[in-house]
Amino acid sequence: MPKNYRAELVGVLGSPVAENPTGAMQEAAFAALGLNWRYLTIEVKPEDLGRAIEGVRAMGFAGLNLTIPHKVAVIPYLDALSREAEMIGAVNTVRRDGERLIGENTDGRGFLRALKEDAGLDPAGKTVVLLGAGGAARAIATELILAGVSKLTVVNRSDLRGRELVHDLQSRTGAAIEFVPWPEPCYTVTADADVLVNATSVGLYPAVEAMPQVDLHTAGKHLIVCDAVFNPAETMLLNHAKAFGLRTLDGLSMLVYQGVIGFEIWTGRKAPEKVMKEALSRELS
Ligand code: NDP
Repeated sequence: MPKNYRAELVGVLGSPVAENPTGAMQEAAFAALGLNWRYLTIEVKPEDLGRAIEGVRAMGFAGLNLTIPHKVAVIPYLDALSREAEMIGAVNTVRRDGERLIGENTDGRGFLRALKEDAGLDPAGKTVVLLGAGGAARAIATELILAGVSKLTVVNRSDLRGRELVHDLQSRTGAAIEFVPWPEPCYTVTADADVLVNATSVGLYPAVEAMPQVDLHTAGKHLIVCDAVFNPAETMLLNHAKAFGLRTLDGLSMLVYQGVIGFEIWTGRKAPEKVMKEALSRELS
């Protein structure tokens, strides 16, 4: 039998993309399973996105990730969207179905899987406070609603962006969501909250001393504090929560699981989760 030297290609398109660590995690997973797959980290300027997707089609890529600034802009170049990507209004993962490219969004699913598997919490029937109204918040909020949270409160600095998110989600899902403009000097987390999620970029490298302005004095001891920020994994918010004796979930878990879901969508194989988490931790340490 002749040898098959053909590699399956996947990758991430973004700009700037050089510091995106996903490739290390996916390549480690391919190596661990002995798959002849390559994950390419590709700089694509906004004006070149359409041509880049044509190239992806021509070269028969098995799948893609999209990062800033392409998550919304890519939609017109795809053939269909998953229900979640449609609801979120953004795509971070593309899978191939024959000749068709299908847009998916695994950011929120990554968060949900991290919450269930690493923090041991099923959000169904729970009360959740979500800080932020950007892309990550939108993905997380959508998945939390689909998972059946009983109460979702969105807290955001910009009134307009926060209200837009809540309005969009309500019209797409029918769920009742509360919006609270971020109060001065801080948002007080009440005792009924089960989960607090930071989906703002506050605390992200290099501004690692910053922390979203929340007061945890009145929070219940059962509260789980989660951060979408993954660089650093140990954010000021998570350290602050630990000082209150609260359980925490870091953004690294969310990032690993969205990669795990992507790997499983593309290859149809069970992802080596431990290998992926170790590879990513190494890259970010
Ligand atoms: P966006 O730029 O879309 O949204 C940023 C959000 O942060 C907005 O709600 C913004 O509020 C808020 N914000 C920014 N600065 C401040 C501040 N000083 N005070 C209060 N709020 C502030 O970013 P994304 O949603 O794409 O990303 C958010 C974070 O999530 C990033 O750190 C990103 O790295 C992380 N992320 C993690 C993933 C993971 O897998 N772990 C996946 C995707 C993202 P306003 O509307 O008022 O401007």
